[in-house]
Amino acid sequence: MSYLDLKIQELKDSGVYRELPINEGPCEAVIRLNGKDVINLSSNNYLGFANHPRLKKAAIDAIEKYGVGAGAVRTIVGNMDIHETLDQVIANFKHEEAATVFQSGFACNAGVIQAITSEKDLIISDELNHASIIDGVRLSKASRAVYKHSDMEALESILKEKRDQFEQVLIITDGVFSMDGDIAKLPEIVQLAKKYNALTYVDDAHGSGVLGNSGRGTVDHFGLHGQVDFIIGTLSKAIGVVGGYVAGSKASRAWLLHRGRPLLFSTALMPGAAAAIIEAFKMLEESTEYTDKLWDNARYFKNKLVSYGFDIGHSETPITPIMIGEESKTMAFSKELLKRGVYVSGIVFPTVQKGMGRIRCMVSALHTKAQLDQAVDIIYKTAKDLSII
Ligand SMILES: *Cc1c(COP(=O)(O)O)cnc(C)c1O
Repeated sequence: MSYLDLKIQELKDSGVYRELPINEGPCEAVIRLNGKDVINLSSNNYLGFANHPRLKKAAIDAIEKYGVGAGAVRTIVGNMDIHETLDQVIANFKHEEAATVFQSGFACNAGVIQAITSEKDLIISDELNHASIIDGVRLSKASRAVYKHSDMEALESILKEKRDQFEQVLIITDGVFSMDGDIAKLPEIVQLAKKYNALTYVDDAHGSGVLGNSGRGTVDHFGLHGQVDFIIGTLSKAIGVVGGYVAGSKASRAWLLHRGRPLLFSTALMPGAAAAIIEAFKMLEESTEYTDKLWDNARYFKNKLVSYGFDIGHSETPITPIMIGEESKTMAFSKELLKRGVYVSGIVFPTVQKGMGRIRCMVSALHTKAQLDQAVDIIYKTAKDLSII
Protein backbone atom coordinates (compact mmCIF):
# COMPACT_ATOMS: atom_id res chain seq x y z
CA MET A 1 0.00 0.00 0.00
CA SER A 2 1.14 3.56 -0.68
CA TYR A 3 1.74 5.84 2.31
CA LEU A 4 -1.54 7.64 1.60
CA ASP A 5 -3.48 4.36 1.44
CA LEU A 6 -2.11 3.55 4.91
CA LYS A 7 -3.23 6.91 6.25
CA ILE A 8 -6.65 6.48 4.66
CA GLN A 9 -6.94 3.06 6.31
CA GLU A 10 -6.30 4.77 9.67
CA LEU A 11 -9.25 7.11 9.01
CA LYS A 12 -11.43 4.12 8.16
CA ASP A 13 -10.32 2.24 11.27
CA SER A 14 -11.24 5.18 13.49
CA GLY A 15 -14.67 5.61 11.85
CA VAL A 16 -14.12 9.11 10.45
CA TYR A 17 -13.62 8.33 6.76
CA ARG A 18 -16.38 9.75 4.57
CA GLU A 19 -17.42 10.11 0.96
CA LEU A 20 -18.45 13.55 -0.27
CA PRO A 21 -22.22 13.93 -0.43
CA ILE A 22 -23.49 15.08 -3.84
CA ASN A 23 -26.16 17.79 -4.12
CA GLU A 24 -28.00 17.59 -7.43
CA GLY A 25 -29.67 21.01 -7.32
CA PRO A 26 -29.44 24.48 -5.78
CA CYS A 27 -28.71 25.09 -2.10
CA GLU A 28 -32.21 25.26 -0.58
CA ALA A 29 -33.93 24.22 2.68
CA VAL A 30 -34.65 20.83 1.12
CA ILE A 31 -31.99 19.49 -1.20
CA ARG A 32 -31.66 16.41 -3.35
CA LEU A 33 -28.61 14.80 -1.78
CA ASN A 34 -27.25 11.52 -3.12
CA GLY A 35 -30.53 11.02 -4.95
CA LYS A 36 -32.78 11.61 -1.93
CA ASP A 37 -34.71 14.68 -0.70
CA VAL A 38 -33.43 15.75 2.73
CA ILE A 39 -33.81 18.75 5.03
CA ASN A 40 -30.61 20.76 4.70
CA LEU A 41 -29.18 21.83 8.07
CA SER A 42 -25.61 22.14 6.85
CA SER A 43 -25.19 25.13 4.59
CA ASN A 44 -23.85 28.61 5.28
CA ASN A 45 -26.50 30.04 2.98
CA TYR A 46 -27.99 31.88 5.98
CA LEU A 47 -30.30 34.20 4.08
CA GLY A 48 -31.18 31.98 1.16
CA PHE A 49 -29.34 34.24 -1.30
CA ALA A 50 -27.45 31.42 -3.06
CA ASN A 51 -30.44 30.65 -5.29
CA HIS A 52 -32.29 33.97 -5.07
CA PRO A 53 -33.89 35.17 -8.35
CA ARG A 54 -32.62 38.75 -7.93
CA LEU A 55 -29.02 37.62 -7.50
CA LYS A 56 -29.29 35.20 -10.39
CA LYS A 57 -30.70 37.91 -12.65
CA ALA A 58 -27.89 40.30 -11.70
CA ALA A 59 -25.28 37.63 -12.41
CA ILE A 60 -26.79 36.72 -15.80
CA ASP A 61 -26.97 40.38 -16.87
CA ALA A 62 -23.35 40.92 -15.84
CA ILE A 63 -22.23 37.81 -17.69
CA GLU A 64 -23.92 39.18 -20.83
CA LYS A 65 -22.07 42.47 -20.39
CA TYR A 66 -18.64 41.36 -19.11
CA GLY A 67 -18.34 37.65 -19.95
CA VAL A 68 -17.62 34.93 -17.43
CA GLY A 69 -14.01 35.67 -16.48
CA ALA A 70 -12.11 38.78 -15.42
CA GLY A 71 -9.20 37.74 -17.61
CA ALA A 72 -6.36 38.74 -15.29
CA VAL A 73 -5.39 39.59 -11.74
CA ARG A 74 -6.75 42.87 -10.38
CA THR A 75 -3.37 44.59 -10.52
CA ILE A 76 -3.00 44.00 -14.27
CA VAL A 77 -6.21 44.17 -16.29
CA GLY A 78 -8.67 42.10 -14.25
CA ASN A 79 -9.93 45.11 -12.30
CA MET A 80 -13.28 45.83 -13.95
CA ASP A 81 -15.49 48.77 -13.01
CA ILE A 82 -17.84 46.26 -11.40
CA HIS A 83 -15.08 45.23 -8.95
CA GLU A 84 -14.49 48.88 -8.04
CA THR A 85 -18.23 49.34 -7.52
CA LEU A 86 -18.36 46.26 -5.33
CA ASP A 87 -15.48 47.53 -3.15
CA GLN A 88 -17.35 50.81 -2.68
CA VAL A 89 -20.68 49.09 -1.94
CA ILE A 90 -19.02 47.03 0.78
CA ALA A 91 -17.21 50.03 2.29
CA ASN A 92 -20.53 51.90 2.49
CA PHE A 93 -22.40 48.93 3.92
CA LYS A 94 -19.75 48.34 6.58
CA HIS A 95 -19.44 52.07 7.42
CA GLU A 96 -15.69 51.91 6.77
CA GLU A 97 -13.40 54.15 4.70
CA ALA A 98 -12.56 51.47 2.15
CA ALA A 99 -12.91 47.82 1.23
CA THR A 100 -11.04 45.45 -1.06
CA VAL A 101 -12.52 42.29 -2.50
CA PHE A 102 -10.54 39.06 -2.71
CA GLN A 103 -11.45 35.74 -4.35
CA SER A 104 -12.54 34.15 -1.06
CA GLY A 105 -12.46 34.59 2.68
CA PHE A 106 -9.68 32.02 2.75
CA ALA A 107 -7.66 34.04 0.22
CA CYS A 108 -8.10 37.15 2.41
CA ASN A 109 -6.56 35.52 5.44
CA ALA A 110 -3.84 33.85 3.38
CA GLY A 111 -2.91 37.18 1.80
CA VAL A 112 -3.65 39.93 4.29
CA ILE A 113 -2.01 38.70 7.50
CA GLN A 114 1.38 38.27 5.84
CA ALA A 115 1.03 41.61 4.06
CA ILE A 116 0.41 43.66 7.20
CA THR A 117 2.99 42.08 9.51
CA SER A 118 6.78 41.67 9.46
CA GLU A 119 9.44 39.78 11.40
CA LYS A 120 9.51 42.61 13.95
CA ASP A 121 5.86 42.05 14.88
CA LEU A 122 3.81 39.74 17.06
CA ILE A 123 0.49 38.11 16.15
CA ILE A 124 -1.78 37.06 19.02
CA SER A 125 -4.51 34.64 17.96
CA ASP A 126 -7.50 32.99 19.67
CA GLU A 127 -7.00 29.21 19.89
CA LEU A 128 -10.29 28.54 18.10
CA ASN A 129 -9.63 30.81 15.13
CA HIS A 130 -10.53 29.47 11.70
CA ALA A 131 -8.10 27.27 9.74
CA SER A 132 -7.55 30.01 7.15
CA ILE A 133 -6.33 32.36 9.91
CA ILE A 134 -3.97 29.67 11.17
CA ASP A 135 -2.61 29.23 7.64
CA GLY A 136 -2.46 32.99 7.13
CA VAL A 137 -0.43 33.37 10.32
CA ARG A 138 1.93 30.61 9.15
CA LEU A 139 2.67 32.65 6.03
CA SER A 140 3.70 35.67 8.09
CA LYS A 141 7.24 36.26 9.31
CA ALA A 142 5.92 37.65 12.60
CA SER A 143 6.23 35.89 15.97
CA ARG A 144 3.09 34.19 17.26
CA ALA A 145 1.24 33.63 20.48
CA VAL A 146 -2.08 31.85 21.02
CA TYR A 147 -4.52 32.60 23.85
CA LYS A 148 -7.12 30.33 25.38
CA HIS A 149 -10.47 30.76 23.67
CA SER A 150 -12.02 34.16 24.50
CA ASP A 151 -9.96 34.33 27.71
CA MET A 152 -9.27 38.04 28.14
CA GLU A 153 -6.93 37.53 31.09
CA ALA A 154 -4.83 35.19 28.98
CA LEU A 155 -4.79 37.76 26.16
CA GLU A 156 -3.81 40.56 28.52
CA SER A 157 -1.02 38.57 30.12
CA ILE A 158 0.54 37.97 26.68
CA LEU A 159 0.23 41.68 25.87
CA LYS A 160 1.72 42.67 29.23
CA GLU A 161 4.65 40.31 28.89
CA LYS A 162 5.47 40.80 25.22
CA ARG A 163 4.21 44.15 23.95
CA ASP A 164 7.50 45.98 24.40
CA GLN A 165 9.52 43.41 22.48
CA PHE A 166 7.77 44.06 19.15
CA GLU A 167 7.02 46.89 16.75
CA GLN A 168 3.40 46.07 15.92
CA VAL A 169 1.18 43.64 17.74
CA LEU A 170 -1.84 42.28 15.87
CA ILE A 171 -4.69 40.62 17.76
CA ILE A 172 -6.71 38.28 15.52
CA THR A 173 -10.08 36.80 16.30
CA ASP A 174 -13.05 35.26 14.56
CA GLY A 175 -16.12 37.52 14.99
CA VAL A 176 -18.36 34.48 15.36
CA PHE A 177 -16.66 31.17 16.08
CA SER A 178 -17.66 28.75 13.37
CA MET A 179 -17.81 25.49 15.32
CA ASP A 180 -19.52 26.75 18.50
CA GLY A 181 -21.48 29.77 17.31
CA ASP A 182 -20.30 32.02 20.14
CA ILE A 183 -19.40 35.69 19.58
CA ALA A 184 -15.93 37.14 20.23
CA LYS A 185 -15.58 39.47 23.21
CA LEU A 186 -14.84 42.31 20.85
CA PRO A 187 -15.39 45.29 23.20
CA GLU A 188 -12.84 43.83 25.64
CA ILE A 189 -10.42 42.97 22.83
CA VAL A 190 -10.64 46.52 21.44
CA GLN A 191 -10.09 47.96 24.92
CA LEU A 192 -7.00 45.80 25.48
CA ALA A 193 -5.71 46.76 22.04
CA LYS A 194 -6.02 50.44 22.96
CA LYS A 195 -4.38 49.94 26.34
CA TYR A 196 -1.39 48.12 24.82
CA ASN A 197 -1.26 49.96 21.50
CA ALA A 198 -2.05 46.89 19.42
CA LEU A 199 -3.90 46.45 16.12
CA THR A 200 -7.11 44.45 15.80
CA TYR A 201 -8.17 42.03 13.06
CA VAL A 202 -11.63 40.44 13.06
CA ASP A 203 -12.60 37.69 10.66
CA ASP A 204 -16.35 38.07 10.50
CA ALA A 205 -17.15 35.28 8.04
CA HIS A 206 -20.07 33.98 10.12
CA GLY A 207 -21.04 37.42 11.45
CA SER A 208 -21.46 39.30 8.19
CA GLY A 209 -25.03 39.16 6.92
CA VAL A 210 -26.03 37.68 10.28
CA LEU A 211 -25.19 39.96 13.22
CA GLY A 212 -25.69 43.69 13.61
CA ASN A 213 -28.05 46.15 11.96
CA SER A 214 -29.13 44.65 8.57
CA GLY A 215 -26.34 42.06 8.92
CA ARG A 216 -23.52 44.62 9.12
CA GLY A 217 -21.55 42.23 11.29
CA THR A 218 -20.00 41.82 14.70
CA VAL A 219 -18.36 45.25 14.72
CA ASP A 220 -21.76 46.84 14.17
CA HIS A 221 -23.39 44.49 16.71
CA PHE A 222 -21.10 45.95 19.40
CA GLY A 223 -21.17 49.52 18.04
CA LEU A 224 -17.42 49.50 17.41
CA HIS A 225 -17.27 51.23 14.03
CA GLY A 226 -13.89 52.81 13.40
CA GLN A 227 -12.25 50.91 16.23
CA VAL A 228 -11.22 47.67 14.48
CA ASP A 229 -8.30 47.99 12.08
CA PHE A 230 -8.98 45.09 9.72
CA ILE A 231 -12.44 43.61 9.21
CA ILE A 232 -12.52 40.50 7.08
CA GLY A 233 -15.76 39.19 5.67
CA THR A 234 -16.83 36.51 3.28
CA LEU A 235 -19.23 36.82 0.38
CA SER A 236 -19.68 33.05 0.28
CA LYS A 237 -21.83 32.51 3.36
CA ALA A 238 -24.77 34.81 4.15
CA ILE A 239 -24.17 36.78 0.96
CA GLY A 240 -24.61 33.53 -0.93
CA VAL A 241 -22.07 33.92 -3.73
CA VAL A 242 -18.28 33.63 -3.43
CA GLY A 243 -15.44 35.94 -2.43
CA GLY A 244 -14.00 37.72 0.58
CA TYR A 245 -13.12 41.27 1.54
CA VAL A 246 -11.12 43.42 3.88
CA ALA A 247 -12.79 46.57 5.15
CA GLY A 248 -10.94 49.27 7.03
CA SER A 249 -8.83 52.34 6.29
CA LYS A 250 -7.97 53.77 2.87
CA ALA A 251 -4.34 53.11 3.71
CA SER A 252 -4.97 49.41 4.28
CA ARG A 253 -6.61 49.16 0.86
CA ALA A 254 -3.75 51.02 -0.84
CA TRP A 255 -1.20 48.76 0.85
CA LEU A 256 -3.05 45.54 0.02
CA LEU A 257 -3.27 46.52 -3.65
CA HIS A 258 0.55 46.41 -3.59
CA ARG A 259 1.27 43.59 -1.15
CA GLY A 260 -1.84 41.40 -0.91
CA ARG A 261 -0.50 38.43 -2.84
CA PRO A 262 -3.85 36.90 -3.90
CA LEU A 263 -4.63 40.27 -5.56
CA LEU A 264 -1.30 40.24 -7.38
CA PHE A 265 -1.10 36.58 -8.34
CA SER A 266 -4.63 35.17 -8.60
CA THR A 267 -7.35 36.17 -11.07
CA ALA A 268 -10.06 38.59 -9.94
CA LEU A 269 -13.53 37.46 -8.94
CA MET A 270 -15.78 36.62 -11.89
CA PRO A 271 -17.83 39.69 -12.87
CA GLY A 272 -21.12 37.77 -12.59
CA ALA A 273 -20.29 37.02 -8.96
CA ALA A 274 -19.50 40.70 -8.31
CA ALA A 275 -22.89 41.74 -9.76
CA ALA A 276 -24.81 39.17 -7.69
CA ILE A 277 -23.02 40.35 -4.54
CA ILE A 278 -23.86 44.00 -5.25
CA GLU A 279 -27.53 42.95 -5.55
CA ALA A 280 -27.30 41.07 -2.23
CA PHE A 281 -26.05 44.18 -0.37
CA LYS A 282 -28.83 46.21 -2.00
CA MET A 283 -31.37 43.74 -0.62
CA LEU A 284 -29.85 43.94 2.86
CA GLU A 285 -30.02 47.76 2.74
CA GLU A 286 -33.63 47.69 1.54
CA SER A 287 -35.15 45.50 4.22
CA THR A 288 -34.41 43.44 7.32
CA GLU A 289 -36.84 40.77 6.11
CA TYR A 290 -34.12 38.18 5.53
CA THR A 291 -32.07 38.75 8.68
CA ASP A 292 -35.26 38.87 10.78
CA LYS A 293 -36.43 35.54 9.39
CA LEU A 294 -33.00 34.01 10.00
CA TRP A 295 -33.00 35.02 13.68
CA ASP A 296 -36.61 34.04 14.18
CA ASN A 297 -35.87 30.56 12.81
CA ALA A 298 -32.64 30.25 14.80
CA ARG A 299 -34.36 31.11 18.10
CA TYR A 300 -37.24 28.75 17.37
CA PHE A 301 -34.96 25.84 16.50
CA LYS A 302 -32.58 26.35 19.43
CA ASN A 303 -35.35 26.68 22.01
CA LYS A 304 -36.90 23.49 20.72
CA LEU A 305 -33.63 21.53 20.90
CA VAL A 306 -32.96 22.75 24.44
CA SER A 307 -36.51 21.81 25.50
CA TYR A 308 -35.81 18.28 24.23
CA GLY A 309 -32.75 18.14 26.49
CA PHE A 310 -29.95 18.62 23.95
CA ASP A 311 -26.67 20.32 24.86
CA ILE A 312 -26.11 23.11 22.31
CA GLY A 313 -22.92 24.37 23.95
CA HIS A 314 -22.65 28.15 24.23
CA SER A 315 -24.01 29.15 20.84
CA GLU A 316 -25.29 32.73 20.54
CA THR A 317 -25.95 32.70 16.77
CA PRO A 318 -27.76 30.55 14.17
CA ILE A 319 -24.81 28.12 14.29
CA THR A 320 -26.22 25.41 16.56
CA PRO A 321 -23.96 22.56 17.63
CA ILE A 322 -25.37 19.48 19.33
CA MET A 323 -22.55 18.22 21.50
CA ILE A 324 -21.90 14.46 21.28
CA GLY A 325 -18.26 13.87 22.31
CA GLU A 326 -16.87 10.70 20.83
CA GLU A 327 -15.82 10.90 17.16
CA SER A 328 -17.26 7.63 15.87
CA LYS A 329 -20.57 8.20 17.70
CA THR A 330 -20.80 11.68 16.18
CA MET A 331 -20.25 10.37 12.68
CA ALA A 332 -22.71 7.50 13.21
CA PHE A 333 -25.34 10.00 14.39
CA SER A 334 -24.85 12.22 11.35
CA LYS A 335 -24.99 9.20 9.02
CA GLU A 336 -28.20 7.88 10.57
CA LEU A 337 -29.82 11.34 10.40
CA LEU A 338 -29.08 11.47 6.68
CA LYS A 339 -30.74 8.07 6.23
CA ARG A 340 -33.81 9.42 8.00
CA GLY A 341 -33.98 12.60 5.93
CA VAL A 342 -31.97 15.31 7.73
CA TYR A 343 -28.54 16.38 6.58
CA VAL A 344 -26.44 17.71 9.46
CA SER A 345 -22.70 17.38 9.15
CA GLY A 346 -20.69 15.70 11.87
CA ILE A 347 -17.75 17.78 13.04
CA VAL A 348 -14.85 15.91 14.63
CA PHE A 349 -11.10 16.09 15.21
CA PRO A 350 -9.09 17.74 13.66
CA THR A 351 -11.75 20.41 13.00
CA VAL A 352 -12.51 20.45 16.74
CA GLN A 353 -10.58 19.02 19.71
CA LYS A 354 -10.54 15.25 20.31
CA GLY A 355 -13.58 14.18 22.35
CA MET A 356 -15.50 17.33 21.38
CA GLY A 357 -17.37 15.85 18.42
CA ARG A 358 -20.68 17.43 17.57
CA ILE A 359 -23.21 17.68 14.80
CA ARG A 360 -23.54 21.26 13.66
CA CYS A 361 -26.98 22.48 12.66
CA MET A 362 -27.10 25.54 10.42
CA VAL A 363 -30.48 27.20 10.41
CA SER A 364 -31.37 29.58 7.59
CA ALA A 365 -34.04 32.08 6.60
CA LEU A 366 -35.23 29.52 4.03
CA HIS A 367 -36.53 26.95 6.51
CA THR A 368 -40.23 26.82 7.32
CA LYS A 369 -41.31 26.15 10.91
CA ALA A 370 -42.75 22.82 9.71
CA GLN A 371 -39.36 21.81 8.31
CA LEU A 372 -37.63 22.78 11.56
CA ASP A 373 -40.23 20.82 13.58
CA GLN A 374 -39.73 17.79 11.40
CA ALA A 375 -35.95 18.05 11.67
CA VAL A 376 -36.02 18.28 15.47
CA ASP A 377 -38.38 15.28 15.67
CA ILE A 378 -36.04 13.19 13.55
CA ILE A 379 -32.99 14.38 15.51
CA TYR A 380 -34.69 13.47 18.80
CA LYS A 381 -35.86 10.01 17.74
CA THR A 382 -32.48 9.18 16.23
CA ALA A 383 -30.66 10.38 19.35
CA LYS A 384 -32.92 8.14 21.49
CA ASP A 385 -32.29 5.14 19.23
CA LEU A 386 -28.52 5.67 19.37
CA SER A 387 -28.57 6.29 23.18
CA ILE A 388 -27.21 9.81 22.69
CA ILE A 389 -29.91 11.35 24.85
C1 LIG B 1 -15.76 30.11 6.16
C2 LIG B 1 -14.72 30.92 6.76
C3 LIG B 1 -13.68 31.44 5.98
C4 LIG B 1 -13.55 31.10 4.52
O1 LIG B 1 -14.42 31.84 3.75
P1 LIG B 1 -14.59 31.48 2.20
O2 LIG B 1 -15.12 32.71 1.59
O3 LIG B 1 -15.53 30.30 2.13
O4 LIG B 1 -13.23 31.12 1.70
C5 LIG B 1 -12.76 32.27 6.58
N1 LIG B 1 -12.83 32.56 7.90
C6 LIG B 1 -13.81 32.07 8.68
C7 LIG B 1 -13.85 32.46 10.13
C8 LIG B 1 -14.78 31.24 8.14
O5 LIG B 1 -15.74 30.76 8.92
